[in-house]
Amino acid sequence: MIAVLVETDADGVLVVSQEALTFGRGLAERAGGVPLHAVAVGRPGEEPPAVVLAQLGEQGVASVHHVVDDRLTAYSAAAWAAALVDVAHSAGAAVVLAAGTPRGNEVLAHTATRLDVAMAANVVGIDAVGADPGDPLIVTRQVVGGAVLEQMQLGDTVAVLSVAGHAVEPAAAATATTPEVVEFSPTMTDADLVARVVRTGEKVPDASGALTSARVVVGAGRGAGSADGFKDVVRLSELLGGAVGVSRVVTSLGWRPHHEQVGQTGSRISPDLYIACGISGAIQHWAGCSSAKTILAVNTDPDAPMVTRAHYAVIGDLHEIVPAINDELDARRT
Ligand SMILES: Cc1cc2nc3c(=O)[nH]c(=O)nc-3n(C[C@H](O)[C@H](O)[C@H](O)COP(=O)(O)OP(=O)(O)OC[C@H]3O[C@@H](n4cnc5c(N)ncnc54)[C@H](O)[C@@H]3O)c2cc1C
Repeated sequence: MIAVLVETDADGVLVVSQEALTFGRGLAERAGGVPLHAVAVGRPGEEPPAVVLAQLGEQGVASVHHVVDDRLTAYSAAAWAAALVDVAHSAGAAVVLAAGTPRGNEVLAHTATRLDVAMAANVVGIDAVGADPGDPLIVTRQVVGGAVLEQMQLGDTVAVLSVAGHAVEPAAAATATTPEVVEFSPTMTDADLVARVVRTGEKVPDASGALTSARVVVGAGRGAGSADGFKDVVRLSELLGGAVGVSRVVTSLGWRPHHEQVGQTGSRISPDLYIACGISGAIQHWAGCSSAKTILAVNTDPDAPMVTRAHYAVIGDLHEIVPAINDELDARRT
């Protein structure tokens, strides 16, 4: 069985968790059609919401392990891990996985420690699934903030891994299921609840969420020239329905807000298209954008690292090229 920890909000299963379910289903199929289970933390006395069950059914989930316990109304990584370990033992999971969110990675790190196994974080692909139970699982994962891909062998009884955002598209199973719901309260100690969320507050508006989930990001760096030099870049991102991303120089100079920064000390992005305008492509910036599926660099310097690493490049002044792209997009819309 393959167990996937799913995160939910008021709208149902988070998209990244749907991606993790699709990834898990692919793995389950390659392992010979083993069942796909979900683990969801719920509220005591409440059934899993219908929308969540429907989304899990679309993903082909056979069983939902619904964790309900008065002590789990607040998030606690160790307590959630205790629940995953219980599921792994009671239902015999060969693989436990989750989306590579901060919460997913934190819970899985606790889970792997409790199971005394290795954990592969931010996996983007499966290279080999053994023919027999106990054969090693070989995965590719992102390391150094996505700047490097590493192959990792998971040879333990239970393989623990998180799935990098956008590594797969969420896709419905060929046949939808009606998942069976198994309610349970995990075996926990007081120590599991020491580090937990004790207070939550109104989220300060921050567009970085839009940046990390955007399918198109239009980036700009020092080449923009000044705080006023971003008008065309912003317009291009609007025309493409995307988000604006910038280099650290730009945020350090106060030209754009920090939540737009891409890189090692900013957001890690994995859009379908990253258009990097006037950005040199320093390693710290590359660490945040290297998982973009397609990169188009716009730069005056043909030898800039961003240009040499990009899939496509336009050599020239961004203040001429970006408005020309915008005009062309505008013309095609009318
Ligand atoms: C610990 C640490 C963490 C860091 N974290 C980050 C991070 O998270 N994100 C990040 O981005 N950086 C980070 N940096 C900074 C990083 O090293 C670079 O300094 C920074 O990314 C450079 O920004 P830039 O590409 O905008 O500027 P530059 O390196 O100055 O490059 C400007 C580019 O614009 C081109 N250009 C100039 N004019 C034009 C024009 N008119 N049209 C087109 N192209 C033009 C130039 O050819 C050049 O390639 C970090 C550094 C350190 C030490």
